[in-house]
Amino acid sequence: MKDELSAEQQQCLLSHLQFTAKHFQAFRGNFEKLVELVRYSVGEAAPDANAIGDFLRLEETQKTLELSYETALWRSADHNKSWRLICLAIKADPEVAKRRLARRPPSTESCSFCWQNETGFTEFVLQPEKDIYGNAIPGVYLHRQCSRPWKLMRDLVARAQTTTKENLL
Ligand SMILES: [Zn+2]
Repeated sequence: MKDELSAEQQQCLLSHLQFTAKHFQAFRGNFEKLVELVRYSVGEAAPDANAIGDFLRLEETQKTLELSYETALWRSADHNKSWRLICLAIKADPEVAKRRLARRPPSTESCSFCWQNETGFTEFVLQPEKDIYGNAIPGVYLHRQCSRPWKLMRDLVARAQTTTKENLL
């Protein structure tokens, strides 16, 4: 008999994935470790590891997390085929966003949002940030999943600057 997760169990796992992503901000590791972290987060009521594993591999699960839970989950194209669980949530404070936008990861082979290093795979998994004219912005490379919160932070800062200017007039 195949283990089917109930709607409640799925909901519970999605929430715990979001919680785990928030805790680690950016997790990178093997699949077993990831499943273990989620099981640990859920606690005694956790479904068995195989059922969780099947659920995490579903494209549908990964899409739901990204669209409704501010969480990115994917299997990378690197040598180890490592899994990533990235918190996409940003603080609504423009000052915090400004600081975060200004910080650069130690290597240009890292994503500017989650700081995960992608040495050797940058051209496959990272894309340069583009300005409104579609030109690449030097020094900023992002995962597809990380480009949305990055843009939200840009918009947040831009809006705050506009508001400040209006107040000064
Ligand atoms: Zn990233």
